[in-house]
Amino acid sequence: MLNSDGKELIGAPGGRWRIPTPALVLDLDAFEANIAAAASFCRENGISFRPHAKSHRCVNVARRQIASGAVGQGCAKLGEAEALAQGGVSGLLVTSPIVTDAGIERLVALNARVDDLLAVVDHPDPLSRIAAAAEASGKRMKLVVDIDVGLRRTGAATPDAAAMLVNAILENSALEFAGVQGYAGHLMHVAGYAERRAALEEAMAPLAALKQTLRDRNIEVPIYTGGGTGSMQIDAEMGLLTELQPGSYPFMDSQYEDVWVKADEAPPFRAALFVQTTVISANHAGLATVDAGYKAFATDADTPCIVSSGAQPMSYFFYGDEQGGLTFDGPGPGLGDVVTCSVPHCDPTVNLYDLYHVVRGDRVVDLWPIEARGRSQ
Ligand code: PLP
Ligand code: MN
Repeated sequence: MLNSDGKELIGAPGGRWRIPTPALVLDLDAFEANIAAAASFCRENGISFRPHAKSHRCVNVARRQIASGAVGQGCAKLGEAEALAQGGVSGLLVTSPIVTDAGIERLVALNARVDDLLAVVDHPDPLSRIAAAAEASGKRMKLVVDIDVGLRRTGAATPDAAAMLVNAILENSALEFAGVQGYAGHLMHVAGYAERRAALEEAMAPLAALKQTLRDRNIEVPIYTGGGTGSMQIDAEMGLLTELQPGSYPFMDSQYEDVWVKADEAPPFRAALFVQTTVISANHAGLATVDAGYKAFATDADTPCIVSSGAQPMSYFFYGDEQGGLTFDGPGPGLGDVVTCSVPHCDPTVNLYDLYHVVRGDRVVDLWPIEARGRSQ
């Protein structure tokens, strides 16, 4: 069920300003430029890319990324992978370990339905249960060994522990060794290219050591996958990874823009995702109330910025679950005025909405359902 359908607005001049709010708005020109920029960057640098679907959770976005040259999609959760597979998206890599028996059953069932599913492991116990389930299903499961590169969230803790997992996969006929993953998510937002590069070089040392060990043992490694929007250029230059997993790049939220802006560098991508809101009360000087509050934005990052073109400077504050406040000097916006806000952190914000209102200029050109919205299990 889509709760804010705007179908009748599609194609109408000025339709963008009549979308039921709060609404997630995707600027197609900026989105397409970002998709093309990442694709040509990867092509020019001879590196493959598997964008992460945790950011968009949407079949239409996945299809466009794959049409631009991506080999598939990263999925944080099984539910995300199931939703994309249902939409016909292939080349899925589940980037978080699946460890429960029920999860393993679903993973193996999904593997039976699609051609090229990959999943990570970081511990021998689920590895052997995945092998047993794959054996019973009659189809080999492709596994990627996740190694910790400093985030300490998932991944084998040492290159030796990771190498042992590689051996366990190679020795099991129900499994196929598909590669290595190392994701340094804690360094994506380090401001300044030089600072970020230095931190990544240090953090990626365990993956480099594992790579050397596997090379010494003549073990073929189909992919080294990892990285995100903040590390694309550095990962390509370092040459350790063969496949990049950027998630936020099609949208470029303000948290990411700051990574470059704070360091006085030009961001590689443009802001393409916005939350549109409407003024519902304006009875006090210098203050207006809009219909977007905690339920309209993820609140882990800074507060949203007002980016409506031509608007006077205004600050946003959270008024509670359903509303936000705008403060300003002078006349300010009137009742019913539409106000466009930046998205401080894209991934958890997208997960609050059923669909993207896709706009070009002031027209709504499409509605894209967010099929994997809420599919975090
Ligand atoms: N890869 C993994 C394993 C992730 O968890 C994430 C995001 O958290 C990404 C890639 C994409 O990162 P970003 O949105 O920073 O591009
Ligand atoms: Mn994020």
